[in-house]
Amino acid sequence: MKPVENQEAALNGKSLLSSLNKSSSHIWKSRLSWRIAAVVFLTILTVQVAILTLTIRQEETKLLSDIKEVARSAIAPVIENNVGFLQSPISDNKARNIITTTIVNGITVYSMDYLLLGHYGEPSTISITNEDSLAKTYRSGDGASYEVIFRPDDLRRSYIIVARLNSEKVSNLVINYVIETITIMLLLSLFVTTVLMIALGHWLLEPILFMRDNLILAQQNPENPKIPKSPFNASDEIGSAITMAQSLIKQNAENMQQVRSAAEDKIHKLAYFDQLTGLPNRILFTQKLTEQAFTSDNKSNKEFAVVTLDLDHFKDINDSMGHSVGDAILRGVAKRLRSNLPEDAVVARVDADEFAVTMPLNSDLKTARDVGAKVAKIINGEHFKVYNESFQIRTSIGVATYPKDGTDPNTVLKHADIALNRAKEEGRDRIREYSEDFDRAVQQRFQLLRDLRDALENEDLTIFYQPQFDLKSGKIIGAEALIRWWKKDNSKEGGAFISPAEFIPIAEQSGLIVPIGEWVLKEACTTAKTWHEQGKNIRIAVNVSGAQFYQSDLVAYTAKTLKETGVKPELLELEVTESIFMDDISIAVETLNKLHKLGVELAIDDFGTGYSSLSYLRQFNIDRLKIDQSFIRNALNNADDAAITRTIISLGHSLNLQVIAEGVETKDHEKFLIEHGCDEVQGFRYSKAVPKEEFQKFVDDYSGNLDSFNS
Ligand code: C2E
Ligand code: MG
Ligand code: MG
Repeated sequence: MKPVENQEAALNGKSLLSSLNKSSSHIWKSRLSWRIAAVVFLTILTVQVAILTLTIRQEETKLLSDIKEVARSAIAPVIENNVGFLQSPISDNKARNIITTTIVNGITVYSMDYLLLGHYGEPSTISITNEDSLAKTYRSGDGASYEVIFRPDDLRRSYIIVARLNSEKVSNLVINYVIETITIMLLLSLFVTTVLMIALGHWLLEPILFMRDNLILAQQNPENPKIPKSPFNASDEIGSAITMAQSLIKQNAENMQQVRSAAEDKIHKLAYFDQLTGLPNRILFTQKLTEQAFTSDNKSNKEFAVVTLDLDHFKDINDSMGHSVGDAILRGVAKRLRSNLPEDAVVARVDADEFAVTMPLNSDLKTARDVGAKVAKIINGEHFKVYNESFQIRTSIGVATYPKDGTDPNTVLKHADIALNRAKEEGRDRIREYSEDFDRAVQQRFQLLRDLRDALENEDLTIFYQPQFDLKSGKIIGAEALIRWWKKDNSKEGGAFISPAEFIPIAEQSGLIVPIGEWVLKEACTTAKTWHEQGKNIRIAVNVSGAQFYQSDLVAYTAKTLKETGVKPELLELEVTESIFMDDISIAVETLNKLHKLGVELAIDDFGTGYSSLSYLRQFNIDRLKIDQSFIRNALNNADDAAITRTIISLGHSLNLQVIAEGVETKDHEKFLIEHGCDEVQGFRYSKAVPKEEFQKFVDDYSGNLDSFNS
């Protein structure tokens, strides 16, 4: 029988006995019941002992008066009336007869004037001498003898008789009385206590245990306690306490359930939704993608598009306008995508400024590219308004189609991401559809990265040096250290040089640039030291990537290398590009200032191509601007590039900086630069980058005159 049914049976009063039996086992184990029972038992006993003490005397008196009456009725009939003066009215014979056959052991007869008339059997202790003596009674210490006085009234004769009686029986009877009474008392107490225990068990203990069991259940499973219905009448105190406790337990369970489900909701939201835009995050997006793939597989051969998009130059907005503007734009993008795409599209924010969309293809949007175009239109179509300012946002988009571009949804998403990267690499603001070639290119890059890691370990990397000249004096004043990777292969030559333009970006993305950069710095410093010892004062320029600024302690490493190689700091120049200011300008400025304090020279490489804000130039101590080779290349046939070159030179001079031009290939380039006051040059006109030994020879052979170069 289930506990609830059990309780109901008890409730119906069907079997009080069975419930008593059930509770009886509890009762006899209950300490509380035992304590109450003991108190009750002792109380009853005490009361009964008091009553006994009070009644025992009465009982004795009654018994004594009974034997007095027995004696009286034995003595009275044998008193004769007509006897002479001072003669005993009881004959010896009769007296002996009474003494032998009854409880009377002795008889003493007095006249009305208290004169002793006769004496039979045991002598009495009481002697009658006057009126007062008549009130005397005597009981021997052992209770065996009792003396009583019969007055003339008692005997209806004019005599006074003192009878000595055998009262042993009375003592026995009193003892019996006490034993009997005590037995009855004990039985009564036991009975009362037992009944009380059972009553306690039924009315008190059972409900208390029921309540305790309820509390245990609530403690074990507070959120969902399986509490049986209370079989106890709620109208009494304990019943109402149970009802109250049960309602508290239920209330507590409800509260806990509410708190838990609220927490679960919150966790769910945090885990699966982006807090800023309220859109699903990457995890939920992938789940939905899987669901979509699953259902479309089952239903029909439906295709769906997976589109990933990245807002172009979003970082610039964040940096220049502040995060609140950036956040507002992200929210705006989310809202626009959500409200302009069909209901069945899943829109998610999968990274900082990256969104993803997936939707089944339909008659309007027949291909993934159509969906990509729609997304581009949604974002590019109208400017975003934030704080009354309008922002034109463009986006790079990668698209892939399920199941064409992958049979499992994660692959399709990965492919859309690859296509997006391609769109970004190709100059952003465009849509790229995934093609297998992309994948191959990605695989090749991974392979290249693995090979590069091996090359670093196996010392297959070397440094070539390209000379830099002072335009006024024609002297070699420096050399740029340019990394070279001789990648061994099975060709006739046994390998080929891989352009740094090819592997440096991969090294930057993977973080491998940090150990590579450290190696280059050390090599370059060692070379500078060697040359210095040979009497050549040639400053070596080392290229430093943005990644090295943020992923390593460039300052500490440079200081350590200078110390270890013992090279003079002014013989080292670090070339950084403007891109380092795009990540975190304050870190960039701080690092550059610390580097400058070490005494090394600082140059801005590829100047003019990057971040066009010039304001940062004043914030730290640089020594040199390096005009990007693209301007030099076209300076002679493109008026804009010529103007830019001139502007950079005069800007540099106005800031007291040296200006060096790279990519100088012809005499005409050189002439143009001299004309506009450029300070230094570097380029194929003089020499390409060459191995260390070759460079040394070049320096040794150099006449010191720039005109000695032909082209
Ligand atoms: P960069 O720092 O601007 O280096 C100049 C690049 O222009 C070099 O290419 C150099 O060989 C080339 N060059 C020099 N003169 C001429 C010229 O007259 N005409 C033409 N067309 N090109 C010229 P390279 O060695 O292929 O290096 C490419 C880029 O790789 C470098 O550009 C630099 O950004 C990076 N790089 C090279 N070595 C390192 C390195 O050790 N660390 C880091 N982080 N980057 C490096
Ligand atoms: Mg450089
Ligand atoms: Mg450059």
